[in-house]
Amino acid sequence: MIKPDGVQRGLIGEIVSRFEERGLKMVGSKLIQIDEDLANEHYAEHADKDFFDELVGFITSGPAFAMVWQGADATRQVRSMVGKTDPAESAPGTIRGDLGLDLERNVIHASDHEDPGSNEREIQLFFEETELLEYSRIDESWLYTDED
Ligand code: ATP
Ligand code: MG
Repeated sequence: MIKPDGVQRGLIGEIVSRFEERGLKMVGSKLIQIDEDLANEHYAEHADKDFFDELVGFITSGPAFAMVWQGADATRQVRSMVGKTDPAESAPGTIRGDLGLDLERNVIHASDHEDPGSNEREIQLFFEETELLEYSRIDESWLYTDED
């Protein structure tokens, strides 16, 4: 999900391009205004942190762009493209390492591959089933082998 700072800075196209070019398949996306209830639920794991209220304020401060991407090991692939939480520690070439400067306003959120089920949980939180499409990308057979 591109956070409100990324949307305001006009980075939707740049970020979508990176995932598309990597070979991932977009199966759903939408511009959303996250309300406080949704923000509380989405970031529930951080409810006891001292930055929680500020984080909820930030994530509800303007439109965000939610996306669902599919592909071989997509959650891990996306996470490595996103970079570390703190842009200062994110390698150049990652989204946060190239496009972010601030620990909170770090451009993008991604499901956590080390938290199994976080991707499914977040998809259900943000999308209706009818908003997710099944289709093949024409280059799929060049991108993954059958085992992937
Ligand atoms: P995200 O869950 O947004 O993909 P992440 O998994 O890399 O990021 P988390 O530890 O889950 O990092 O933190 C969630 C978000 O909270 C961060 O992306 C950042 O926007 C904000 N955040 C994390 N730590 C701090 C902090 N110390 N001060 C302010 N904001 C923070
Ligand atoms: Mg996280």
